[in-house]
Amino acid sequence: MHDPNCIFCKIIAGHIPSTRVYEDEEIFAFHDIHPWAPIHFLMVPKVHIPSMAQLLPEHEALLGRMMVLAPKLAFEQGCGPYPEGGFRVVCNTGALGGQEVHHLHIHVMGGPRPWAKG
Ligand code: 5GP
Ligand code: ZN
Repeated sequence: MHDPNCIFCKIIAGHIPSTRVYEDEEIFAFHDIHPWAPIHFLMVPKVHIPSMAQLLPEHEALLGRMMVLAPKLAFEQGCGPYPEGGFRVVCNTGALGGQEVHHLHIHVMGGPRPWAKG
């Protein structure tokens, strides 16, 4: 369920401080420490899944909940309304996908441009 060496498992457990955006029994969301955009937070499942490459049919409801939650949190965090505003969702997977932390996470980015990246 949890990897003792995983930085995001430590954040979820509160052993590493983070700025929390949202939490329920399955999902944790917190501000990215190096934001690319004026609004940039990460959504993670509490269960340690290394990446999208390990997803199984049993994770469908969890990932579905995360995707439905993303716009709610994005707008709560200040992303402007669709269609003029909006946000970007990114899920880097594997080395060539640009993944650095191997606990599945969804980046949610928004706010006025230009952005540092993305
Ligand atoms: P990846 O490149 O794996 O898709 O993204 C990992 C993200 O995690 C990066 O944007 C990075 O800034 C963020 N990150 C890494 N370590 C920490 C940390 O200790 N705290 C927080 N809040 N974000 C982190
Ligand atoms: Zn983890």
